[in-house]
Amino acid sequence: MKRTNIHSASHGLIAEIQRMSTEDGPGIRTTVFFKGCRLKCIWCHNPECISSKPQIHWIESRCIGCKTCLDVCPKVALTYSPSGISIRRERCDTCGRCAEECPSTAMEVMGKSWRSNELIDELIKDRAYFETSGGGITLSGGDPTLQAPFAGILLKNLKKSGVQTAIDTCGVCANGALDQLLPNTDLVLYDIKEMDPQKHRRFTGQSNAKVLDNLLYLCDTMATRGYPKKLWIRTPIVPDTTATEDNIQGIGEFLSVNVGTLISRWELCAFNNLCRDKYQRLGLDWVFKDSELLSESEMEYLTEVARNTGVNPDIVHWSGSTKIEEDGAGPN
Ligand code: SF4
Ligand code: SF4
Repeated sequence: MKRTNIHSASHGLIAEIQRMSTEDGPGIRTTVFFKGCRLKCIWCHNPECISSKPQIHWIESRCIGCKTCLDVCPKVALTYSPSGISIRRERCDTCGRCAEECPSTAMEVMGKSWRSNELIDELIKDRAYFETSGGGITLSGGDPTLQAPFAGILLKNLKKSGVQTAIDTCGVCANGALDQLLPNTDLVLYDIKEMDPQKHRRFTGQSNAKVLDNLLYLCDTMATRGYPKKLWIRTPIVPDTTATEDNIQGIGEFLSVNVGTLISRWELCAFNNLCRDKYQRLGLDWVFKDSELLSESEMEYLTEVARNTGVNPDIVHWSGSTKIEEDGAGPN
């Protein structure tokens, strides 16, 4: 495997390209998941995107137990037992030999280096869907600001091609990184996860100071330079962490006082546990592996709290899956 995991203006490291997405902005979208994030949220739904380096993972359901991967691994990083393949990550240098030789694609390298022009050609294949649905391309991750020179060029060329663009960011980056992305971004999906700085540090590894500062910077850019055109705020609603009335109240008050009419949507995103397998494949334990989904009534309640914080209630919505209850409305 060619080792081109360089972050530069011409190359970017991408974990995955997801087509036909309806969750990362309006219409039908293609979402590009960048490798690398400055936060390490304990609930992260994309753990394969946290590291800014390629990682090998093993997909149990595909493995036929042939042990070819053990034979070809030059680092002797793999062992086989009745419970499956174990990867000694301190030995693995992600050379990719095991993935190349595995007959059933059970070994995969997460993280492919793309040239910007090749990635653009790949992404605009879905242009017809974008045009009919009002969709476009969303750079997500991970966080695209961590590869700002590459993401900036990508956005510029996508805009030149007439494609609607969005970025999804946790907001922890230098102003200069935002400056490279925002001029060619139509929509920013901006995460505000937790208002209490200590809790934010406990849940994500860092205080929320930079997140809030950058939101103000972003809003100033919108007001004075006219870009991005739209701003959506997203708050993950996670059991026993962010899913509290105090948190939603605090975020809403901050938005209402500081950001006002510049937001066109505040979305409360219900926790999901579909990423359990991803943690397993990476050999990571996940603190939420046995956590249940929230109920519709819990999501409705927090949405009502959000609608009474001073933010325009019409822009507050919730999304995602919930526990099955006998009665209750679906996401709005
Ligand atoms: S080569 Fe692939 S299928 Fe064979 S044991 Fe390794 S992971 Fe499983
Ligand atoms: S990526 Fe290379 S070093 Fe790592 S387990 Fe596979 S063959 Fe071994």
